[in-house]
Amino acid sequence: MSAYEIIDHTYDVLVVGAGGAGLRATLGMTTAGLRTACVTKVFPTRSHTVAAQGGIGASLGNMAEDTWQWHMYDTVKGSDWLGDQDAIEYMCREAVPAVLELEHFGVPFSRTPEGKIYQRPFGGHMSNFGEKPVQRACAAADRTGHAILHTLYQQCLKHDAEFFVEFIALDLIMDDEGVCRGILAWNLDDGTIHRFNAHQTVLATGGYGRAWFSCTSAHTCTGDGNAMAARAGLPLQDHEFVQFHPTGVYGAGVLITEGARGEGGYLTNSAGERFMERYAPTAKDLASRDVVSRAMTMEIREGRGVGSGGDHIMLHLEHLGADLLWERLPGITETAKIFAGVDATREPIPVLPTVHYNMGGIPTNHLGETLMPTQDEPDKTQPGLMAIGECACASVHGANRLGTNSLLDIVVFGRAAALRARDVIDPNTPHAPMPKAATEKILDRFDGLRHASGSTPTAEIRDAMQRGMQRDAAVFRASDSLTEGKKNIAEISKGFSDVKVSDSSLIWNSDLVETLELENLLACAQATVVSANAREESRGAHAHEDFPTRNDETWMKHTLAWLDENREVTLTYRPVHTWTLTDEVDYIEPKERVY
Ligand SMILES: Cc1cc2nc3c(=O)[nH]c(=O)nc-3n(C[C@H](O)[C@H](O)[C@H](O)COP(=O)(O)OP(=O)(O)OC[C@H]3O[C@@H](n4cnc5c(N)ncnc54)[C@H](O)[C@@H]3O)c2cc1C
Repeated sequence: MSAYEIIDHTYDVLVVGAGGAGLRATLGMTTAGLRTACVTKVFPTRSHTVAAQGGIGASLGNMAEDTWQWHMYDTVKGSDWLGDQDAIEYMCREAVPAVLELEHFGVPFSRTPEGKIYQRPFGGHMSNFGEKPVQRACAAADRTGHAILHTLYQQCLKHDAEFFVEFIALDLIMDDEGVCRGILAWNLDDGTIHRFNAHQTVLATGGYGRAWFSCTSAHTCTGDGNAMAARAGLPLQDHEFVQFHPTGVYGAGVLITEGARGEGGYLTNSAGERFMERYAPTAKDLASRDVVSRAMTMEIREGRGVGSGGDHIMLHLEHLGADLLWERLPGITETAKIFAGVDATREPIPVLPTVHYNMGGIPTNHLGETLMPTQDEPDKTQPGLMAIGECACASVHGANRLGTNSLLDIVVFGRAAALRARDVIDPNTPHAPMPKAATEKILDRFDGLRHASGSTPTAEIRDAMQRGMQRDAAVFRASDSLTEGKKNIAEISKGFSDVKVSDSSLIWNSDLVETLELENLLACAQATVVSANAREESRGAHAHEDFPTRNDETWMKHTLAWLDENREVTLTYRPVHTWTLTDEVDYIEPKERVY
């Protein structure tokens, strides 16, 4: 028996995470009359959603003709045909009501002269099935995520949602039948341990960008939910697909939104050439992110990079004029000044592709329910557990996400999870008893890390992992780098047994927090390199130099990475959905992806 005293809580629903996905779900569940608790390791409005800049995609058609079918087509094409088209149909169709709902909640969108929601072009969003760029990104200047997150939090407060702030979820509590019964969490403020028993647990813990050395994500993006699901025996889907955003500030990794190119910005190489015209003659600088990031990397490799090291590219906004920049892109104008030391109204910004988004995650259906696929039942659901937002893989982004589709994903599937919970949970049903052994196991692991007395500090192991991932799971991959990467991360992961935690306090112990997060990051990193090493084709963000083309016959399938207790990964696969949700739209047949 462990020596920890446990404080018990009982709710209908437990949401882990208070980013856009978690808050939208919490709001929907609370207003549906379900007793809902939201547990979050950072204050809700500090979640990474707050940093989203450019916009949320919806075919409102405020600036030019647009339809949700065009949006769906672009999303399927952007996904390089790895996305599940039933889920994509759901998201693109629901986009319009979801954004109007946000407007009614009070999100302060930028406006057109007639007072409609302002929309800007974004990479890969086109009109009429790929013809020319369309204005689909609904924006609140370049602070769209900030506006959405604050509004959702205010709505949650208005409806008396219950929050447990600065509580770290340690693990899912699974019973002997494999049903999720809740979670165990550690309260950083007073060191107490809390057990939450709920009919439904919803993971909304965000991405794992911090597995790399240079990323645009917050330090809190450590894949906790993915790792918790993996430890509970669920697979991680499509982890090899990692998005590099074309324009991270060189050296700092901070993001310059694609909205900057949406407003008319463009990239140049050392010859001053607008090279995207060669790679994507129609969409040019507004091709999808994987395409632009690869083109930039090719320019640098072929000796046309900018600067003394020839190792970056220039983003020009100066021709747009100071008035437009201060009105539409005030945040990035400031970012350029602070992080690159340049005045964007006068000179170009040095940029480089930077890790930005994880397409893979915990597999779910379009209702937000997590999947425990078997050979015979690839869409079998996992009782008691849902996953939404960046930690989930619905899969609407497939092999490459289009910009603005993640803010959309979090509100659409946050809402979908709430609708589903309302339908399946009877608020008056008694709760099943919490399985004792599961709690003990989680506490043993926690206690083991708390007193870990090895010889390698957490920061050292993390640094090795981040550098390894940056080198081997990059924009371009090859058989030798992936084999090396797989071996390297497996060794680092084994080396985690030698971690040294110097502080065993239970109150505000950042060393222990970072160690828990590192273990989670390692699980995500391992699933990523093992899955990438196996996928012998190029699709979306997975560009394999030894297999440069897409191979639908063998590889149009989702990877499932299963982690065992010895931190080893086994892979299986499940088919991509080749059907739509309704007969209002047909399955979009795979074809070559050109922009
Ligand atoms: C700089 C930047 C700009 C972006 N711009 C755009 C954009 O313009 N348009 C767009 O569509 N997408 C954009 N994205 C992507 C998009 O913002 C994210 O994918 C999305 O906001 C993720 O939301 P989320 O709710 O899933 O997770 P997050 O917002 O990351 O929230 C995760 C939550 O989980 C909690 N949590 C995590 N682990 C634990 C744990 N162990 N215990 C308790 N709580 C935990 C955290 O406290 C947090 O509340 C951008 C991303 C970045 C990094």
